[in-house]
Amino acid sequence: MDLIDNRYSIQGVDLEKLTGEFGSPLYVYDAEKIESQFLKLTSAFQGVKMRVKYATKSLSNISILKLLRKMGAELDCVSIQEVELGLKAGFMPNQILYTPNCVSFSEIKEAVAAGVMINLDNISILEQFGNEYHGTVPVCIRLNPHIMAGGNKKISTGHADSKFGISIYQLQHIVRVVNTYGLNVTGLHMHTGSDILDAEVFLRAADILFDAAKQFKTLEFIDFGSGFKVGYKEADIVTDIAELGVKLSAAFKAFCTEYGKELEMWFEPGKYLVSESGYLLTKTNVVKTTPATVFVGVDSGMNHLIRPMMYDAYHEIVNLSNPSGTKRIYTVVGYICETDTFGLDRKLTEVKEGDVIAFKNAGAYSFSMSSNYNSRLRPAEVLIHKGQAQLIRQRETFDDIMRNQIELNFED
Ligand SMILES: *Cc1c(COP(=O)(O)O)cnc(C)c1O
Repeated sequence: MDLIDNRYSIQGVDLEKLTGEFGSPLYVYDAEKIESQFLKLTSAFQGVKMRVKYATKSLSNISILKLLRKMGAELDCVSIQEVELGLKAGFMPNQILYTPNCVSFSEIKEAVAAGVMINLDNISILEQFGNEYHGTVPVCIRLNPHIMAGGNKKISTGHADSKFGISIYQLQHIVRVVNTYGLNVTGLHMHTGSDILDAEVFLRAADILFDAAKQFKTLEFIDFGSGFKVGYKEADIVTDIAELGVKLSAAFKAFCTEYGKELEMWFEPGKYLVSESGYLLTKTNVVKTTPATVFVGVDSGMNHLIRPMMYDAYHEIVNLSNPSGTKRIYTVVGYICETDTFGLDRKLTEVKEGDVIAFKNAGAYSFSMSSNYNSRLRPAEVLIHKGQAQLIRQRETFDDIMRNQIELNFED
């Protein structure tokens, strides 16, 4: 987002005006930002065969998927519906990794039938898989290296209490199952969660994976998952991708030499690719003074952006309608009948009713986590691509609220 001549814009498109054109609230994505993040990631890893499996769940609009496909990304899908979406977006089955957790075996069979790479994270499922397919279908195994990613248990998946992955301490049992059924294990996987601060955590987890990899003779790739941290606040520490690239590439090459084969290195970034590209634009319904604070109440809420309430996530807030006004302290809240506080004690340029308020870092886990709570409609989505704002999802209507509801009649 640029501030030029006292107006906020993306690729020359005036942001505040977008709400006039497409309505409010509105999700807006900057295609250039997605592309620059993709390039930053792929250029950090030199001399290794790398695949980027974009985490579909972070922002799953089909036009975003197609844009990423054009750039050379592949997909990580966590449900059979995401697999369907990926195929519809034009990805080849062999570009899709299916990483489910606690799904039924029948769903896994559907994914096998679709021809995508299967990533399993439970020994009992691995046994069922062996019974069903023996070595005929390649499989990846998700390990939990028990490395804590950051301090937030809600978004960390590598800790001992986590439901994700098969514990690295069960390695012997995994090997027994694999050998007994003659499973064709082509990949090992880890994903320790969404809050890794530094390269060292990654490298420690990677070492654990390299060590485990020696037990499997048919590997073709190692998938390091994601967990790349992006800045939400100005002072936030972010993952130094360049440093990670240099260190992990070197460690990986050394491992491949030892393993005796050049394997592929896979990643599954969601947040890193799309978080900073996204903005939620809202309109100020009311400015409400109470004995304790001044509330800015906008025409959105936890139904459209739940991260502040669910993860205590910090999203920077900007008053687009008054770029150079005097700053005052506000509590920014939504219109939902819950305490849906977007931001407490935020310094915003003076807000008037009707002002357009933008929430930054609203690309990842924002629209994709939205709901119809309070029977509210989901916003439209717009992609700014090559200097043009294009609608990529229509705003919902009341018909969407009624869809699938069956109206019983109790009158007679
Ligand atoms: C959610 C998820 C990701 C993406 O995590 P980010 O923090 O958004 O990069 C990657 N892999 C798996 C298996 C996931 O569940």
